[in-house]
Amino acid sequence: MSVYDKYETVIGLEVHVQLGTKSKAFCGDDASFGAPPNTHISTISLGHPGTLPRLNKKQIEYAVKLGLALGSKISPTNNFDRKNYFYADLPKGYQITQDRMPICIGGGMDVETEAGGKRHIRMHHIHMEEDAGKSIHDIAPDASFIDLNRAGVPLLEVVTEPDFRSAQEVDVFMNAMRQLVRYLGVSDGNMQEGSLRCDCNVSVRLKGAEKFGERCEIKNMNSMRFARKAIEFERKRQIDLLESGGKVAQQTLNFDPVSGTTSPLRDKEDAHDYRYFPEPDLPPVVISDEYLAKIKAGMPALPWELQKTFIEKYKLSAYNAKLLTEEKGVATFFQGLTQHTKNYKGAANLVINKISPWLNEEKVGIADFPASHQQLGALIQLIDDGKVSNTIAYQRIFPELLKTKKMPLEVAEAMNLVQSSDEGFLEKLVDDVIAQNPDKVKAYQNGKKGLIGFFMGAVMKASKGKAEPKSTNALLAKKLAKK
Ligand code: ADP
Ligand code: MG
Repeated sequence: MSVYDKYETVIGLEVHVQLGTKSKAFCGDDASFGAPPNTHISTISLGHPGTLPRLNKKQIEYAVKLGLALGSKISPTNNFDRKNYFYADLPKGYQITQDRMPICIGGGMDVETEAGGKRHIRMHHIHMEEDAGKSIHDIAPDASFIDLNRAGVPLLEVVTEPDFRSAQEVDVFMNAMRQLVRYLGVSDGNMQEGSLRCDCNVSVRLKGAEKFGERCEIKNMNSMRFARKAIEFERKRQIDLLESGGKVAQQTLNFDPVSGTTSPLRDKEDAHDYRYFPEPDLPPVVISDEYLAKIKAGMPALPWELQKTFIEKYKLSAYNAKLLTEEKGVATFFQGLTQHTKNYKGAANLVINKISPWLNEEKVGIADFPASHQQLGALIQLIDDGKVSNTIAYQRIFPELLKTKKMPLEVAEAMNLVQSSDEGFLEKLVDDVIAQNPDKVKAYQNGKKGLIGFFMGAVMKASKGKAEPKSTNALLAKKLAKK
């Protein structure tokens, strides 16, 4: 047993979700990503004296939606607070946030553990705040650049309880959060662009110990690959420290992806005193029962609810149900397809093995998928009726359906692909193959029954894929037995 196995890792997350609103949290500036630096700014986001913030209704709505999805309690009255600190990318000198009373309290989400079990991750709370601008240190060696487009963009911060026990669980959770915010339409969840990022609080303790260890906080992870590495590095660093008689000091850490190591940003001793105080320029936000009811009524089906439906109603495997619900658009498309076929497994296979890979390859969204549900339902029927093989349907007919409104049978007929179970047609093929392979026939009759596969293949080839497999197989078995 390695010394590392004596310890348990404990992790809690502070997840930042950048909201996909049109405008910023407290002014009308464009909140979209990727514009030339310092073009989405105004006197308000620049913090000019005398300007006043205004609420963005969408930020409230999005916070409530995420809270409801996670089973949180929604606070009826919400206040904002100022978190004061000095930094070049924070022109106001403070960030508007919720310190005293967050909008959502409690709730939770299940994540799948490596061992295949489930772990319930409890949410501590979700609060609303605004983002700071962006400091860019890697353009010039002797200067920093500031882009204030991001200053004031609305955020939700989701704080979990320290319920994670491995980097893998963090990975699964962040993927689920990405999926959830996309389902809800509150954020694009794009980690690369920083729309979804997290601080990882990591501590270790001897297995069986009740008290948590001292924790370190790794800031601003916006790649799960790096987050996993950072947590792994930190776990080992802390265990090594404890094993050599040292103590873990509470610290804020930075992860360097190049070296794969963490290093201190600041110690607890110089921890900020943010001098929080109530934001005087924003009125309290009251969330009425009517408002809550309206939001509830408009909630979309959530990924885990759809998975359950797909397993129970359509009898799909848990694995396929998960694949089909990864993107809301794909799940909706599949549900549409079930209106046009009763072969739900066939429909699932078509979406998973053919449509999704095609979308990925062509970089096209499901909304722009060219073939209709009617065509696809009919394609599945064509396979089920034995008119075409699965292979022919997928490889020859499917690509045609992307270019034409014609139904699959018409396409198959025009391309001369319809399988035949016509006795005369099959008999000739079977007789030829048997005549051409006397050795194999003998071997078959002497007990090598596996050779049926060889005969099937030969008939298929001779028929150019048009021999209907079931009838062919039956005919072959009959003829081979007779001789
Ligand atoms: P602070 O307000 O000082 O950041 P919190 O108690 O609010 O501290 O915790 C912040 C985050 O740290 C939460 O996600 C929480 O789950 C996590 N956390 C708290 N204690 C530990 C610990 N001992 N090990 C790992 N994570 C922890
Ligand atoms: Mg913190």
